[in-house]
Amino acid sequence: MKIVFTRKIPTELVEPLKEKYDIFMWDRENEPMPHERLLQEMKDADAVFTNVADRIDKQLIEQSSSLKVISTMAVGYDNIDVEAATTHGIAVGHTPGVLTEATADLTFTLLVATSRRVVEGMDLIRRNEWQSWGPFLLTGQSLYKATIGIIGMGRIGYGVARRAKGFEMNILYHNRSRKPEAEAELGAVYCSLEELLQQADYIVLLAPSTPETKNMISHEQFEMMKETAVFINTSRGTNVDEEALYQALKEGKIFAAGLDVFETEPISNDHPLLTLNNVVALPHIGSANVETRMRMATLAIENIEKGLAGERLTHIVNAEIYGNGK
Ligand code: NAP
Repeated sequence: MKIVFTRKIPTELVEPLKEKYDIFMWDRENEPMPHERLLQEMKDADAVFTNVADRIDKQLIEQSSSLKVISTMAVGYDNIDVEAATTHGIAVGHTPGVLTEATADLTFTLLVATSRRVVEGMDLIRRNEWQSWGPFLLTGQSLYKATIGIIGMGRIGYGVARRAKGFEMNILYHNRSRKPEAEAELGAVYCSLEELLQQADYIVLLAPSTPETKNMISHEQFEMMKETAVFINTSRGTNVDEEALYQALKEGKIFAAGLDVFETEPISNDHPLLTLNNVVALPHIGSANVETRMRMATLAIENIEKGLAGERLTHIVNAEIYGNGK
């Protein structure tokens, strides 16, 4: 059986598989496999080890006649046509949980960096323009005892809320359903999206990318935010109307934004958002610490091996392929 790896991952993870499987591994770590090449390699593949940068669409799924498992090294799977996979009985696996704390850390990094203008400070020094200590030089917003509003209080949202507790922040959250444990353990207060946007000093978006969440934060939502609000997106770029975000930042409707994800990735370096001093932009590195990435890759391989052995994946997205019995 053949497994396609669309990115180069550490040899120690792949080597043991070579005894049992025919392995194709794209030889670049930070460059995507061209889609045409992916289509070609997938024609006789039984499984694919993929990531957020690949497009696993209907065409690819339908032309890969022996495909049994699509395994992504991510929790989000919006790059995969899950419906098409399900129609063809192909298991889709992902890696929830193991990346929660790393992504919560990075989300908090963006909260601190944007509120206290960390990147602007570094730039000032680099440009040799730091003349003296100034009473209001690069003054930002306070985190301590401020109000954080988390949209999408799931695994990562909860991790962010736990960190916010350490800063003695008031925690608001919005989900489609209430999370009693976040309310009992952290004192988080459930509210409507509108209430959250109006009351929070820090608005953190951590809902998945779905048809329902597309552009869920747009002009109307930025209008509701405080002028001192900081907006953080570590979910998916498609959840935010970037044009509306640019205008809100440029016109001073909000204070700053911290972004790890973009509508189109990689973001082009002439994107208007990158011209603004009150934006901190990162290249989708939410889960990027060595330990976490190793655990994600290991789990994605485990999903493939289970699927190829005819077993239920450890973390399955489309459990309906198993019917009721499995
Ligand atoms: P999760 O546990 O499934 O949490 C997602 C939360 O969003 C759930 O609590 C869900 O609650 C809520 N939600 C879903 N639809 C919503 C809507 N329409 N409005 C409001 N809330 C909604 O997922 P997670 O592990 O925390 O991951 C969250 C997302 O983070 C992933 O989907 C992924 O896109 C992103 N992520 C990014 C990075 C990165 O590198 N930047 C890394 C990991 C994950 P209800 O169902 O009750 O609404």
